Amino acid sequence: MTLQERDKKVVWHPFTQVKIAPQPISIVRGEGACFYDEKGKRYIDGIASWWVNVHGHCHPYLTKKVSEQLQTLEHAIFSGFTHEPAVQLAERLLKRLPANQSKIFYSDNGSTAVEVALKMAFQYWSNLSISKTKVIAFENGYHGDTFGGMSVGARNAFNLPFAKLLFDVIHIPVPVEGKEEESINALNNALKQDDIAAFIFEPLVQGAGGMVMYSSEVLDKLIKMCRDKKVITIADEVMTGFGRTGKFFASDHLEHKADIICLSKGLTGGVMPLGVTSCAQFIYDAFMSDDKMKTFFHGHSYTANPTACSASLASMDLFDKPEAFENIKRIDQQHKLFMQKIQSHKALIDVRQLGTIIAFEVKTNEKTNYLNSLSEIISEFFISRGIILRPLGNVLYVLPPYCISNDDLRFIYDAIMEFLDENVE
Ligand SMILES: *Cc1c(COP(=O)(O)O)cnc(C)c1O
Repeated sequence: MTLQERDKKVVWHPFTQVKIAPQPISIVRGEGACFYDEKGKRYIDGIASWWVNVHGHCHPYLTKKVSEQLQTLEHAIFSGFTHEPAVQLAERLLKRLPANQSKIFYSDNGSTAVEVALKMAFQYWSNLSISKTKVIAFENGYHGDTFGGMSVGARNAFNLPFAKLLFDVIHIPVPVEGKEEESINALNNALKQDDIAAFIFEPLVQGAGGMVMYSSEVLDKLIKMCRDKKVITIADEVMTGFGRTGKFFASDHLEHKADIICLSKGLTGGVMPLGVTSCAQFIYDAFMSDDKMKTFFHGHSYTANPTACSASLASMDLFDKPEAFENIKRIDQQHKLFMQKIQSHKALIDVRQLGTIIAFEVKTNEKTNYLNSLSEIISEFFISRGIILRPLGNVLYVLPPYCISNDDLRFIYDAIMEFLDENVE
């Protein structure tokens, strides 16, 4: 039996309609910005393996540090116990995070980082005996696949079967260019209610929603409005963190900083699952009490797993070297040059770019959504050329590991140009 046949017998894949999906590609090895399949065919990883990879696959330094940690302390319960990797990682993250952040809470992925943020915000008000239980979020947002994450995310085909089970959220328009006032007015209206606990957002780029981008100026205004009304702000930096938008965090583009920040994906360099929710001191203080009922009763078996923390520490070492941000700047420049070249292409509705992310909204006759069949056509076209791109509906994007070479970037750009020239009227 082939690996694909064995796979089909026993494995259930994420986001996959198994009845019609093409056979999964069997990856045997990763190196730098590339994967290799069973036959030795090379695939350029144009989407950083679901947005997690930053320094490249199987980076020798990350591999070495993780294997050293595995031989010392692989895992330890984190309630009543602590260890060097978790403490050191918290120290080092806080040095990089906005100055208002003062405590690090560990979990294991992006969705749990968001759940923790929401629970912190809700219980903050509960601990102060103030009744605030509503959340404000952007339309078209994505914050993970757990119930809290789905509730604050866009209501769409992905969570339709659960629609009745999701909690009440006030969705306001995304302040994309030309819609800033509409968004500000909607927030202003929502903030008139006195039961708003928190405002959650993906800063500057909505990832899964189609790499939708908006300005730091307008987000600054929205955060300030929430602060004035004592509404807790939550920046979901699960995708935007660790250099993705050209700065270490998307929050670094902002003057006003969120009270709570969620991290995952690039946190460990894309090596191990880990989530972090950081918060400002005033949030933490509301849980300090002689009253045990004010405890934050939340945790996961693998909270602050030392091996995952060691991967993250090793990734932070690599970010401390000049090469990391030199690469990020280089990709940003390459993207900008290609954007100039392709901007007026007839097959495109829009091109947008920030830092290492470039996105192309392709014209289509169908209603534009993720279930768009164009997405399968696009994937197949690029796979046949040894490039991994996984469009979000009719939005094609490149979000590579930072070690990708200019040659590989050019190969991807050329293929995109070819695709647009040939396949779209
Ligand atoms: C991917 C993502 C999540 C969910 O993270 P998982 O690790 O996949 O659970 C949450 N928020 C944003 C902005 C994301 O991009």
